[in-house]
Amino acid sequence: MNSGSHAKIIDGKALAEELRQNVTLRAAALRARGITPGLAVILVGDNPASQVYVRNKVKACADSGIHSVLDRHPADLTEAMLLARVQELNNDPAIHGILVQLPLPSHIDAHKVIEAISPAKDVDGFHVASAGALMVGQPGFWPCTPYGCMKMLESIGYELRGKHAVVIGRSNIVGKPMALMLLQKNATVTVCHSATANLKSITLQADVIVAAVGKRNVLTADMVKPGAVVIDVGMNRDDAGKLCGDVDFAGVSQVAGYITPVPGGVGPMTITMLLVNTLDAAERT
Ligand code: NAP
Repeated sequence: MNSGSHAKIIDGKALAEELRQNVTLRAAALRARGITPGLAVILVGDNPASQVYVRNKVKACADSGIHSVLDRHPADLTEAMLLARVQELNNDPAIHGILVQLPLPSHIDAHKVIEAISPAKDVDGFHVASAGALMVGQPGFWPCTPYGCMKMLESIGYELRGKHAVVIGRSNIVGKPMALMLLQKNATVTVCHSATANLKSITLQADVIVAAVGKRNVLTADMVKPGAVVIDVGMNRDDAGKLCGDVDFAGVSQVAGYITPVPGGVGPMTITMLLVNTLDAAERT
């Protein structure tokens, strides 16, 4: 029970819904101009988790008036065939965004496939051109999960300028782009990872903590400064098989000023930012 809890919850589900209403309006405005925004989602093989993710993305598009193509391929699809398909979609004027669901089967070089996507259609923001644009502060597609975290901070009117933000995790899809986005908003950023010594001494100095590790209880109440904002990106299962994050929610919510729950936090924001990126791509055509 959290009866003594004082952290305010940042409700990702509610915020995602609000943002999706705007996506729906923008999609309708584009259709009125004769442009139907279109997203192609490529799925190779039958990974059960990937199938769920892909289905959710396709449904989110349908709910928002975005045309989507689910491009399913058998697990033995060759790399050359996949590259050829990406090329076809690059040249298809009805498609504004292309997403390749990861992981790909091991015989396919995922990096090569992502690099084959036209940067103008890279709505996942994983292409090196997108990563480079974020790095140098130029317009480009931001990876959806850290982008969603930034929207959550914006939703509480949080001023990052001069604050110390600590990102735990340095993956190319979450931790690193997260750190760059926080830096762009004038936070002082520390990036922690598996080789970080004395994580607690660092997180205790943080005004904002983003946990993106993929391990339960990476962040506990004794590691958090009172009043800090805690964003939990992690998606794990507890002993009962229930979805949980990286943060000990019950404990940390006694100390933090704001906290995102799992489920209902960052998760719903990720797909929403994919829709936003797709709309941005369609509006640029
Ligand atoms: P990842 O590629 O596995 O990266 C995990 C990072 O955590 C690595 O940088 C790793 O350090 C670091 N790490 C591992 N153990 C650590 C420890 N004990 N202390 C500090 N850092 C540690 O994972 P990811 O793709 O970034 O995803 C992270 C989590 O977010 C996962 O649970 C994933 O499911 C979740 N996720 C959620 C969403 C969403 O929409 N909600 C989207 C994407 C990801 P090294 O670099 O040194 O190995």
